[in-house]
Amino acid sequence: MSRISYLNGKFLPHDDCLVPIDDRGLQFGDGVYEVILFKNNKLIDSNPHIERLFRSLNEVKISHNFDKEFFQNLAKELFQKNNLKKGSIYLQISRGVMNRIQNCPTGFEPTVVATVSPLKNFSQEEFEEGISVITSDDIRWHRVDIKSLNLLPAVLTNQKAKDLNFNDAIFVRDGFVTEGTFANVFIVDKNDTVITRNADNFILQGITRNRIIDLAKKRNLKVEERKFGVEELTNAKEVFLTSSTLILRSVTKVNDKIISNKAGEISKLLREDYLNFIG
Ligand code: PLP
Repeated sequence: MSRISYLNGKFLPHDDCLVPIDDRGLQFGDGVYEVILFKNNKLIDSNPHIERLFRSLNEVKISHNFDKEFFQNLAKELFQKNNLKKGSIYLQISRGVMNRIQNCPTGFEPTVVATVSPLKNFSQEEFEEGISVITSDDIRWHRVDIKSLNLLPAVLTNQKAKDLNFNDAIFVRDGFVTEGTFANVFIVDKNDTVITRNADNFILQGITRNRIIDLAKKRNLKVEERKFGVEELTNAKEVFLTSSTLILRSVTKVNDKIISNKAGEISKLLREDYLNFIG
């Protein structure tokens, strides 16, 4: 069965979903996106994901008439057409197609693209083993709270980590940890306090992050949303990253510092809680 994707109201074979050269997403990265996990016929945390999409659209002033049901129905139909029971949906909305001008006028039809993919396999063994990360200067703009298409700084930094034989990177701005290239960062200190950066304009407020905070509180763990520096990161008892598709990845090495030789206890519990939550 061929892969079916969505473009502006039509479900088409993936390779036939063609966007014009003058699309603002292509020319300027002028658009926003969202990635949502799908399992057992339902989108995981669909309301907060779609609310964040509306927030991103609002922040970049892309006008639209979409409502929540539109995206929920689109997702269900696309998973059905691809015969996928679990996976993730990628939704992208650009400002639309117009002559190449430097400002961002309203009144154009946004371009809507959606694709679904099977889940990347991140096994229990990989989780237990953990990943290695470098810390790297946060070279992104000051509004990464918007899930915009401009991912070049994250892509280059992720590649830099791979070139150095590490799995990923954690951004640092003004001496404080912001987030991963495509994930939020948590640490667990010696007193089992779960700490993650407060949601300001220098991180994307992850939906998985928020859910993990909620699950940690349900376990009566102390949670602090605050800034922390590289020293606190490298001295933590546990470090982990959260994101919708990879859920919770334990970090066992930061730069040349070994955090632990396998995933920590709190990381394990919170990952299990999350897996139970999604069913
Ligand atoms: N931070 C960044 C920069 C991301 O790109 C992502 C996900 O892609 C996240 C955090 C995690 O967000 P979520 O948990 O909503 O997937």
